[in-house]
Amino acid sequence: MNEQGMLAVVSGFSGAGKGTLMKELLKRYDNYALSISATTRNPREGETDGREYFFVTEENFRDMIEKDALIEYAQYVKHFYGTPKEYVLNQMKKGKDVILEIEIQGALKIKERFPETILIFVMPPSAEELKRRLIGRGTESMEVINARLRRAAEEAEGMEAYDYILINEKIETCVEAMHQMIQVQHNRASNN
Ligand code: 5GP
Repeated sequence: MNEQGMLAVVSGFSGAGKGTLMKELLKRYDNYALSISATTRNPREGETDGREYFFVTEENFRDMIEKDALIEYAQYVKHFYGTPKEYVLNQMKKGKDVILEIEIQGALKIKERFPETILIFVMPPSAEELKRRLIGRGTESMEVINARLRRAAEEAEGMEAYDYILINEKIETCVEAMHQMIQVQHNRASNN
């Protein structure tokens, strides 16, 4: 019988490079599944519905809340984001460790509900680099970028709730470190 998988939350400033890290982790190891969130924000250029997110209306989102179809949800810079429940629970049953790329409010709710979850916070190498990446992405206005930077500063205050803080200087090293962290926690959880 498959042993039950666990959850790994990966948070970090928008622009810290989490997306690239996650893609690489999933490419290298087949014991992970990535949760795809629902959001009310508009798709950015290059994003596809059902791949990066399920892009939904606010009405759809409220409906999901009412039907208890989300494990957690939060508001982030004017939009709603939530983790669909069914996929995550199914993957855990299949023995997969499920990665949730979510912000801090959601991370804390998940930890409360699933205490064995590992919380990892990804940091860019510097504030300058963070700004450079956000602007370089070229998909958001300066107003939105500044709102996101302000939110990043607020989130930094909650970092102490996380088990690990990972500095994303080199993708290679970071992916391996993340894999090790999750596996250590997985083994610890299975031995309990
Ligand atoms: P973005 O708009 O840059 O894709 O995401 C904004 C923030 O929302 C990021 O910090 C991202 O991790 C977070 N986020 C994405 N999906 C979810 C979710 O399902 N729940 C929560 N709580 N946060 C999410």
